[in-house]
Amino acid sequence: MDKNTLLQVWPIPAFDDNYLWCIHDGSSALVVDPGDSAPVLEYLKRNKLTLKGILITHHHADHTGGILDLLESLGSDIAVYGPVGDDIPGRTVAVMQGDKVEIPAPRVSFNVFEVPGHTLSHIAYFANMQANVVEPLLFCGDTLFASGCGRLFEGTPTQMSESLAKFAALPKNTLVYCTHEYTLSNIRFALAVEPNNLNLLSWSDRAKALREQGLPTLPTTIGQELQVNPFMRCDQAEVIAIAKEISGRAELPTPAHVLAVIRAWKDRC
Ligand SMILES: [Zn+2]
Repeated sequence: MDKNTLLQVWPIPAFDDNYLWCIHDGSSALVVDPGDSAPVLEYLKRNKLTLKGILITHHHADHTGGILDLLESLGSDIAVYGPVGDDIPGRTVAVMQGDKVEIPAPRVSFNVFEVPGHTLSHIAYFANMQANVVEPLLFCGDTLFASGCGRLFEGTPTQMSESLAKFAALPKNTLVYCTHEYTLSNIRFALAVEPNNLNLLSWSDRAKALREQGLPTLPTTIGQELQVNPFMRCDQAEVIAIAKEISGRAELPTPAHVLAVIRAWKDRC
């Protein structure tokens, strides 16, 4: 296998609406957040891939539940990367903000970002352009969704706002591999926030067409989310105005205040 073979990223559907992302070069594979082992084992076998590593973003069972069975089935020499602050079953490498994860096969290097909000120790893996990566890749777990963001189970609106700001600073063509197919319901809420957002209206049509064909709406891109995701648009006049209306507050001085209002609103929907 040419070491510069372009990396491919494919979804392995699991549970009702999870995607377990498989990154591979045609022979060696990584899997992100394997909540279940059976669909991963089936996918690897069907595509004649050897699992070399597992990347974990956070501790929730639908992201970690398959790890031990994969190690048992495929060999315990598989590297398991996970956030330092979480108790991750089978983890071999604890990573934190600023770490660089260098994986020999498939050859790829990731930067680790700490992105608290959904959970306190949540991390994301970012692969900038490199020999075999033509567009940057972001594996963001349950922090960012297409047109939405994760529920704040452990963190604060300020933490989520800062985490999303880290993503907003990435190149606009970064491909974003979210872990759930929540897009259509997120779009319905996003349209309640910004009914006049033309980019959102056209994205709504495209996303519906994809789902009608049984296709994923992912990956999205950072550039697209900046145009259609209300949680990444908490500095926009229309989003601020409706957040003031919903909360009855005259002032929402920061994007984090706006995010707090619209996240709580979505939790009630
Ligand atoms: Zn989660």
